[in-house]
Amino acid sequence: MLVRIGLDRRSIDMNHQTIPVASRAHIAAALAAADVPVLLMVLHHLTGDHRWLDAPYRPVREISIFADESGGLPPAVQDEVRAAALDILEALQAGRLTPPPLPDRATFQKMMSVCVGELIPAEYVPMMLEEMGLEARAPTWPAPPPAASIAQFEVLIIGAGVSGICAAAQFREAGIRYTVLEKNATLGGTWHDNKYPEVGCDVPNHFYSFSFRPNADWSGYYSKGDEIEAYLCRCAEEFGILDRVRFNTEVLSARYDERTARWQVTVRQPDGELATLSANVLVSATGQLNRPKMPTIEGLADFEGPLFHTARWRSDVPLDGRRVAVIGTGASAMQLARSVAARAQSLTIYQRSPQWAVPSVDYHRQVSDGKKWLLRHVPFYMGWYRFTLAWRFSDQLLRTLERDPAWPHPERAVNARNDRHRERLTEYLLDALGERSDLVAKCLPDYPPYGKRILIDNDWFKTLKRDNVELVTDDIARLTAQGVETADGVTREADVVILATGFEATRLLWPVEFTGRDGESLRSRWGDDDASAYLGLTVPGFPNLFCLYGPNTNLGHGGSIIMIAECQVRYVLGCVMKMITDGVQAIECREEVCADYVARLDAEHAKLVWTSPGLDNWYRNKAGRVVSVMPWRLVDYWRYTLAPDFDDYHVRRYA
Ligand code: NAP
Repeated sequence: MLVRIGLDRRSIDMNHQTIPVASRAHIAAALAAADVPVLLMVLHHLTGDHRWLDAPYRPVREISIFADESGGLPPAVQDEVRAAALDILEALQAGRLTPPPLPDRATFQKMMSVCVGELIPAEYVPMMLEEMGLEARAPTWPAPPPAASIAQFEVLIIGAGVSGICAAAQFREAGIRYTVLEKNATLGGTWHDNKYPEVGCDVPNHFYSFSFRPNADWSGYYSKGDEIEAYLCRCAEEFGILDRVRFNTEVLSARYDERTARWQVTVRQPDGELATLSANVLVSATGQLNRPKMPTIEGLADFEGPLFHTARWRSDVPLDGRRVAVIGTGASAMQLARSVAARAQSLTIYQRSPQWAVPSVDYHRQVSDGKKWLLRHVPFYMGWYRFTLAWRFSDQLLRTLERDPAWPHPERAVNARNDRHRERLTEYLLDALGERSDLVAKCLPDYPPYGKRILIDNDWFKTLKRDNVELVTDDIARLTAQGVETADGVTREADVVILATGFEATRLLWPVEFTGRDGESLRSRWGDDDASAYLGLTVPGFPNLFCLYGPNTNLGHGGSIIMIAECQVRYVLGCVMKMITDGVQAIECREEVCADYVARLDAEHAKLVWTSPGLDNWYRNKAGRVVSVMPWRLVDYWRYTLAPDFDDYHVRRYA
């Protein structure tokens, strides 16, 4: 017998089949804001009428990642689609329409292909159906779990950010005992830590959210950090996990006890006292971008004014009318610069490397009330809208990032398509900087696009052109009591120094000390910055330990890390369910399985743009090996993590 766990119930919320009573005028007004290709799919779902998948209604393929809401259809056809949707929704509201059952996967593939105007390969269909909330992503118990085994089983989860909340929600649904240990006083992980001006996500929110808890109320297409943090807190509350989170409890070390096959975890409790907790399975959900990277710049301690990292923002430090220095030009700097420049007397930005930045039409756009109504109330609308984002912002780009050995201009791009991207981004930059040839010379990168993480232009170029902003590209020699001295001997005074210098992305799971079987420490296995793990999740020598968002699971080419977290949690939960039902005490990844996986992964990375010779980025460790991002398509990683194969593990059963 298969026992389903409960996420189906929530996922149905995205695709409910009734709508609240609303006037015809109200529905018509909302439909004016509709994305037409999405509406066509809704019509097909609600009527089963195949004509909505054929000419003259077939949307045109949009090559830009930003969807054209008209689907490229003539205005008269759009009007016809909206008018039909109005009648259908009215009929549904009045109880005059009973939608047919969900179509089969072949029809879904056709619908998906029609919706975005290009062939969606069949391998994507099940992954997308999960993203759309039409199929559950949670695993099922292979057999009813023996009551005694499940009662004795305990899981400790370190961290209450996106991954920790996702894991806790699903362990709870499965009825498995868990506790979350969170060093902060509240939830949210990176979205709690990062409070700098305009902090936000550069993945569209309707995709960057749990598939089993969609949110129709995002204020923008790229909402800001406080809204994402509030969403995560709401999720935690609705999932009923809050009473299982121990706040202000920092994990210091964890040791595997082979005799009992349990992890002994040392924590600093809220009162400062140390305590040891114990669990069968330990899940690290500490993220990759959570420990600020402090630059090794001489004189950092000599600066007399306030100096702080973007992820430790000092809201008590006034910036208005002051001279502000920002060191670093990554995603954080690009987000905060325009706000700081608008308030400060002067802003001096110290740039070590220039950045490629893309424009985004939706970046500052608010979601209209009509669109929110459709997302909330129209059956299947949210799911299909999410599909369009999940398709556009996922694997398409990866194909364009492979180094072509025959390409004659590796100094500027890795292949012909990458070169076309470079041309378009260069045009954009030249247009944005206009007459300022001094800035063009400083801002035009000399490495291929996507060699470093691509950024969304938050009015960066506009900000650089302001009279009160200076972009300094000379090397920083040192900080002095009054400001920043560059290698040319010039000192620019500052009242406040902001370090936008990124995170310890290559020192995974740091600084917690993990000691595995035979007393081996994870740090000695990995060295300072050379982490690797099978599927990014599990490490030989460290039984019953799983790391969510572990080595090589970040995304350099697209996608939502929330989707990756859900895939990983499914895999880990699958392992735990199997352990419980099969009477397994410990599983430990086989060395050869891990080695083979890592070798394949390294070989893939060696073909990609971010390992271009001489290129430095936070994906790579000091030796140049990529430890942070994955080289796989999302659909590959989704498939790898569908279900555990215990042949990959040494399995120890209860005696
Ligand atoms: P980052 O991308 O690592 O950028 C750090 C910046 O500091 C780089 O410009 C780096 O220069 C510079 N830097 C580092 N050490 C320096 C030194 N000693 N002297 C001078 N400059 C130095 O960090 P981040 O901007 O915080 O972003 C990290 C990642 O977090 C992002 O890529 C993204 O994944 C995530 N994030 C996302 C968002 C978003 O969604 N929009 C926002 C913030 C963060 P080099 O390039 O020369 O190393």
